[in-house]
Amino acid sequence: MIIDEKEKSIGVQLQEKLTRKWDIAWKDLNNEDNQKIQEISNDYLTFLTSGKTERQCVEISVKMAEEKGFKPLHTYIETGKIVPGDRIYMVHKQKTVVFFVAGSDPIENGMAIVGAHIDAPRLDLKPSPLYESDDMAFFKTHYYGGIKKYHWVTIPLALHGTVVRKDGSTINISIGEAPEDPVFCITDLLPHLSQEQNTKKMTEGITGEGLNIIVGSQPYPEKDLKDGVKLNILNHLYTKYGMLEEDFATAELEVVPAGAARNVGFDESLIGGYGQDDRICSYTALRAILDRENPKRTLCIILADKEEIGSVGNTGMQSRFFENAVAEVIDLMAVEKPEMVMRRCFMNSEMLSADVTAGVDPNFTGTHDKGNAPYIGKGIVLSKYGGSRGKSGSNDAHAEFMGKMRQTLEVAGVIWQMGELGRVDLGGGGTIAHILAEYGMDVLDCGPALLSMHSPFELASKVDLYMCYKGYKAFLA
Ligand code: MN
Ligand code: MN
Repeated sequence: MIIDEKEKSIGVQLQEKLTRKWDIAWKDLNNEDNQKIQEISNDYLTFLTSGKTERQCVEISVKMAEEKGFKPLHTYIETGKIVPGDRIYMVHKQKTVVFFVAGSDPIENGMAIVGAHIDAPRLDLKPSPLYESDDMAFFKTHYYGGIKKYHWVTIPLALHGTVVRKDGSTINISIGEAPEDPVFCITDLLPHLSQEQNTKKMTEGITGEGLNIIVGSQPYPEKDLKDGVKLNILNHLYTKYGMLEEDFATAELEVVPAGAARNVGFDESLIGGYGQDDRICSYTALRAILDRENPKRTLCIILADKEEIGSVGNTGMQSRFFENAVAEVIDLMAVEKPEMVMRRCFMNSEMLSADVTAGVDPNFTGTHDKGNAPYIGKGIVLSKYGGSRGKSGSNDAHAEFMGKMRQTLEVAGVIWQMGELGRVDLGGGGTIAHILAEYGMDVLDCGPALLSMHSPFELASKVDLYMCYKGYKAFLA
C-alpha cells in the first residue's frame, strides 16, 4: 500500500527528516550499478587469485596500469619532463609501487592520494627450513603479521617466492595454485587424542614452532641412507630449480592458502578469499585511478608493503620511498624552488588511507558498540580514528576533512557508513594513516568492512567493493 505523504503523522515526518539513515546498500542500486558490480567483482576475483604475495600484486598492478597508458618513471626521466595528463608509476624493490596522474593545477596545491597495502599475513619459511623427522620432511616457518595459528592447520597451502642461488642468479617459485600442482599442509591432532590439547587456551593449542609444513615422505632410493626423505626433497629442488639447501638462506618463500578466491552464498553477494586485507582496497584504488584522465589535481595511488608488521623496512610506508617518488615527479615538472614546492604539495595534499575494518559478525556478540559499528553491505566505512586504548597510535581525522569527504561521497552517490573497528578497550589496530599525516596533510581511514579478517578466507560484500571503487574514484578528481 502506498501511503500518501499527507497521511504521515508529524512525528513520522520528523523522524524521516532528522534521523540518520544508514541502510543496506543493495536496496539503492540501479541496473547500471548491478552490472558494474558484476564486472568489478569478477575482475577482483582474478586479481585476488593471482596476487597472493606483494611481489605478484606489484606485477599485476603494473600490467593493469600499462594497459591504461601508465609508464615507468625512467621513461619520463629520459624525456626530461612531466606534463599534465601524464601517467607515471614507480616500483621499489618489486614490493611496493606508486602511481601518479599529473594534474593541470600546480602541484604545490596538493595531490589527492589513496594509500593501501598489498602485504598480507602469512607463513614465511625460516632461513634454514628443511628437516626430516620420523621419515617425513618438513619446512619450519616463522609467521608474518597477525595470525590465529589454528587457522593454518589442515588447509591446502601454496608456496610462492624468490630464491637467489649460489651463483647470484634469481628464480621465482610458485607452486600449489594450478589444479594439477601439488599443495602443502600443516597437520593437526585427531580428536581421539586431543584431550590435552583441548584444555589449552586457543592461543596455545597450536604454537608458532608447531607450524611445520609437510613437504614429502618418500626417501631417496638408496638403502641405509640417513635422512633419505630430506635428500629426496633436496634432489627434487636441485633438479627442478637448480637449488642447494644453502640457497634457502638467500630466499624469500611465502606460504599462503592455496586456491582461488570464490563467490560466496546462493545469491553470490559475497567474495571469500585470502588477502582481502588489504588487496580489496589496493584493487579498488587502482581501478579508480586507471579510470581517471586529465585531472585538475595530481592524483596518486600508493600500494605499500610491510603494513602488517608496522610499515617498517625500505618498502614499508615509513620508508622515504614515497617522498623520493614525489620529488622525482616534481623535479620533472620544471617548477621553481622544487624543495619548497614539495613541502607545500605535501601540506596541501589530501589522503584516504584505504584499509579494511572489522564488520559486525552475528556469531560473535559483544565485539562492537552496534550503534557505532561497521556492517557488511552498508557501503564504504569512514573511520575517524583507529588505534587502541584511547585511540593511541591513531590519525584521528578532522571534522572539516570528514565533512568534505561526506559531501564528495554524497554528490557521487556513494553509500557510506561510519564505524569503529571494535568496542572501546577490546583491542584495536593501525593503518598507514598516521605516517602520511606527519607531512601535515589531511588523512582519513576509509575502506570496506570484512568478516574473518586476517584469516585464510576473509569475507567481503560485493556492494562494499563497488562502493569503495566509486568512493575512491570520486575522491580522485
Ligand atoms: Mn590492512
Ligand atoms: Mn591487517
